[in-house]
Amino acid sequence: MIVALTGAGISAEVGIPTFRGKGGLWNKEDPKELATLSAFLKDPVKVWKWYDWRRSLIKEKHPSEAHHLLARKKIPVITQNVDGLHQRAGSEQVVELHGNLWRVRCLNCSYKGWNYDTPLKEVPPKCPECGGLLRPDVVWFGEPLPEEAIRESLELLNYCSLMLVIGTSGSVYPASQLPYYAKERGAKLVEINPEETPLSPLMDLKIRKGATEGLKEFFSSYEL
Ligand code: NAD
Ligand code: ZN
Repeated sequence: MIVALTGAGISAEVGIPTFRGKGGLWNKEDPKELATLSAFLKDPVKVWKWYDWRRSLIKEKHPSEAHHLLARKKIPVITQNVDGLHQRAGSEQVVELHGNLWRVRCLNCSYKGWNYDTPLKEVPPKCPECGGLLRPDVVWFGEPLPEEAIRESLELLNYCSLMLVIGTSGSVYPASQLPYYAKERGAKLVEINPEETPLSPLMDLKIRKGATEGLKEFFSSYEL
């Protein structure tokens, strides 16, 4: 079975900035100011304004050809992205390691729900059940990954014979460990990324192209 691990690079092609590299989000904003629980508790309005901006930007974009190719080939996807573009492209099996920025959850009660308002009706948004502060249901720096997402990822990788590692810098732990896990279980690894990454030495094949061109090359060279 083929499994894909995707990162911000697969969405970069449709104009959603990555966190690192040229034109990355982090070049303009300090992540430690925005993507941590302590930053959020200190200034929820500031953090929510950043998410409101990102959500508005993402809403007007469409999945890339690379997202569509993975969906058409019915390849299960483990993604670090929070933009929901794999689902919009029609992928049925998507494991979200870092949550989804269209989902919100309450800091005060167990409420969790979807919110697609762009711009948000109020900043910060409040819980419809208890009036508490809502946060984006994403994984921030220093927070653990959702247990279920880890379990589902490992289950997929136990049956994986070939892993496509697409558009990830491989620098966010523990997502960056998944290719090692797959390799230890005998999977071949293919990296599709225009740049070298810390994961590159592990790869059986490196395609130094963008996600769409790289996937096309991969599918045309290998009968699958
Ligand atoms: P990253 O920003 O650290 O790295 C992006 C990688 O994509 C780089 O290695 C770069 O060379 C590569 N890349 C750039 N253009 C590409 C293209 N056209 N095709 C293929 N690859 C390309 O991203 P990451 O590794 O996903 O990790 C950072 C964190 O960023 C994740 O936790 C994720 O949640 C978050 N993030 C998500 C989004 C999103 O949801 N779209 C956007 C930015 C950051
Ligand atoms: Zn609540």
